[in-house]
Amino acid sequence: MTTVRDPLDRVFGAKTAKALNEAFGLQTAGDLLRHYPRRYATRGELTELSSLREGEHVTVLAKVALAQRRPNGNRRGERLEVTVTDGTARLTLTFFHRVYFHQKILRPEAVGLFAGTVSSFRGRRQLIHPDCEMLPETSGPGVAAEIAADYATELIPVYPASAKIASWQISKAVQTVLDTLDVGEDPLPPELRERYGLGGLAESIRAIHRPLDVDDYRAARERLKWDEAFVLQAALAQRRLAAAAMPATPRPRVPGALAEAFDARLPFRLTDGQRAAGETISADLACAYPMHRLLQGEVGSGKTVIAVRAMLQVVDAGGQAALLAPTEVLAQQHYRSISAMLGPLGQAGQLSGAEHATRVALLTGSQGVAARRSALTDVFTGDAGIVIGTHALLEEHVRFSDLGLIVIDEQHRFGVEQRDALREKAPGGRPHVLVMTATPIPRTVAMTVYGDLEVSTLTELPAGRSPIATHVVPAADRPRFLARAWERVREEAGRGRQAYVVCPRVGGTGPGDPDDEPAGADAPGPDDADGASGGAGSAPGALAGRRPPLAVLDVAPMLEQGPLAGLRVAILHGRMPSDDKERVMRAFTEGNVDVLVATTVIEVGVDVPNATVMVVLDADRFGVSQLHQLRGRVGRGSAEGLCLLVTETEPGSPARERLDAVAATGDGFSLSRLDLEQRREGDVLGAAQAGRRSSLKLLSLLADEELIGKAREEAAAVVAGDPELARHQGLSAAIGDLLGPQRAEFLDKT
Ligand code: ADP
Ligand code: MG
Repeated sequence: MTTVRDPLDRVFGAKTAKALNEAFGLQTAGDLLRHYPRRYATRGELTELSSLREGEHVTVLAKVALAQRRPNGNRRGERLEVTVTDGTARLTLTFFHRVYFHQKILRPEAVGLFAGTVSSFRGRRQLIHPDCEMLPETSGPGVAAEIAADYATELIPVYPASAKIASWQISKAVQTVLDTLDVGEDPLPPELRERYGLGGLAESIRAIHRPLDVDDYRAARERLKWDEAFVLQAALAQRRLAAAAMPATPRPRVPGALAEAFDARLPFRLTDGQRAAGETISADLACAYPMHRLLQGEVGSGKTVIAVRAMLQVVDAGGQAALLAPTEVLAQQHYRSISAMLGPLGQAGQLSGAEHATRVALLTGSQGVAARRSALTDVFTGDAGIVIGTHALLEEHVRFSDLGLIVIDEQHRFGVEQRDALREKAPGGRPHVLVMTATPIPRTVAMTVYGDLEVSTLTELPAGRSPIATHVVPAADRPRFLARAWERVREEAGRGRQAYVVCPRVGGTGPGDPDDEPAGADAPGPDDADGASGGAGSAPGALAGRRPPLAVLDVAPMLEQGPLAGLRVAILHGRMPSDDKERVMRAFTEGNVDVLVATTVIEVGVDVPNATVMVVLDADRFGVSQLHQLRGRVGRGSAEGLCLLVTETEPGSPARERLDAVAATGDGFSLSRLDLEQRREGDVLGAAQAGRRSSLKLLSLLADEELIGKAREEAAAVVAGDPELARHQGLSAAIGDLLGPQRAEFLDKT
């Protein structure tokens, strides 16, 4: 008997096990069984040979048309040239060894699977020494009619294969496992399977590898998708339950204190969404177990106000609150704006301080010794109720008096470990955690990647916010349009407004130098683009031969001496010392700079209502969600914002279409879906899971939204009724297998 946990080298010889591990990282029988066929070939439908590309490793199903031995030119002996066809196009198979053997099996009219790397010889595409697997004959003398009929309709699984191990070798390995497989207890409760009409585990695994017909494999896929969704959701439900069992100090609302005084000071009415999210958070904080909440809302939807109200509730209840920002610029900006919002409420110990007043402390990596020492003291004594900072907050010698709430702004830029480190600063019990993000997360991603956080969403912007008009400026075919863009910047400056010019790169030390800006959430990884993703839609081939992306250090002087001469231009990027960054930001905030030429350092949170125009250069180098974030910077005030996406991409190209989509809609959620569609989901999951291998093989976060939603409900119900899963051994085992020790740890830390 083989179980899913058996290591492959115990099922096969070491050689096959090694090949499977090296090619695909498959280690156990269960891993192999989840290495699903990429597609199924039927004898009647040969592979379209015209679509093969040179250099590709392929497995094709084709029929032999012709086999000829030919003398080798300057070498001795003969070679075998076999022409195979799909009925239209042709492909040559060339054999230098075992010529007679191959001639014997590759008879005209025989159908087989051929695997190899496509090369070309004298303009013809060929496979040299492909692996061959001939299908059994279905006609001719000696073939029983039933067998012929069987094979005529048989679906032949085609597996993701490699040069080391061919599709049918994988197929055989799978068959070996299937022959002796004991799948164990089904993770899906029978009652649930019945309600959703799902097949049993053993039969579904068999059917996805060896389907009888198309319906058979479709049903199997559906069932196995359920496994992926349900097991993950059950794990997350257990996590949520465990978190709820942790102790936390309740921080209930205290009437007549800071939080109320703050509300009374607000110069605007909260939106209904802000009010509702605020109520939910307030109730969470009053609980004796820690809050884990994700607050998402468009740029400018007013998340900070909600955070401040939550922090004040905690301060009123005797605790401290920490706000963690991803960059120094943002931490400083939060410090300034929150201090201003609080006014006398944040000036404890000063003459101007109000009754119950607290103090706001700022802790960044680069502040002076004196400022730092005094901030540390305030944090330690508890005099500072609100502590704002960057990573510096995570350092060991930062000690809180009584940390009750951690607010993380723009969660994507924080690693799991960092969140952990901060949590440890509340030794008495776990602090409440509020994560804020302006990168809209599709519901399914929220349910899986952030599945153990509760989610609140702000869907409306405060009234009076003007829309942002976005236009694509084709710089290559319409150079006049670019000139017009700079004129617009001058016009706005003439009205006393300000502008951003965003470039994908810092420049100066060469394109290969990564800047210290962390890559955006939607950037697949750091590249030369200084935070610009350059990812979605821009095939590597499309980039070849292109000039390097525009850089802040080159563009700024060009503008100053050219189209923007006479305006006050400043630069901002992540490689600047933080003193300089702060000086520039302050000058811009105070209106002493007309045009800020910057990298994506301004992507999150920078708030200057007087800035009304943004020109994004080489806009195609940025991800869709990132562009949406960026343009949010010019919708802060009451004047209408304008965002110009400058690009040299061809009309109709995928890159241009992405920009057109950004220009056409202001809805961040639909753009984030577009982002998801255009990138491999692994990237999305990968970014959030710190590069771990995704456990989702069949499940699509885009297409299976409904299934994931149902699985979440069902899993939560099962876990609620049986928290230890004592009566659901199959599920319990599957959680252990699917998540593995590493992933379980990841979930633990979220
Ligand atoms: P974000 O969600 O992007 O963090 P902020 O909290 O920074 O948004 O809010 C953006 C701006 O809108 C701030 O200047 C803030 O004071 C203002 N604001 C927040 N809520 C409201 C409201 N209900 N009505 C009017 N302005 C608001
Ligand atoms: Mg914000």
